[in-house]
Amino acid sequence: MTKGTPSMGKRSNKVTHIKCRRCGRVAFNVSKGYCVACGYGRSSRIRRYSWSSRKVNRVRLPSK
Ligand SMILES: [Zn+2]
Repeated sequence: MTKGTPSMGKRSNKVTHIKCRRCGRVAFNVSKGYCVACGYGRSSRIRRYSWSSRKVNRVRLPSK
């Protein structure tokens, strides 16, 4: 029974995040039903914070 570092390489058979339709990142959680990067499926507004400015659809979204 190994639970340490050698068994960590086998943790890749479950799909948790697929490609998001709105931001294009692989961050859409299948089981939760929303994107953790842009909030697609959770809110109509794009998830943004002052501590993170990133690109959504190749356009930079500055934090307001
Ligand atoms: Zn997204």
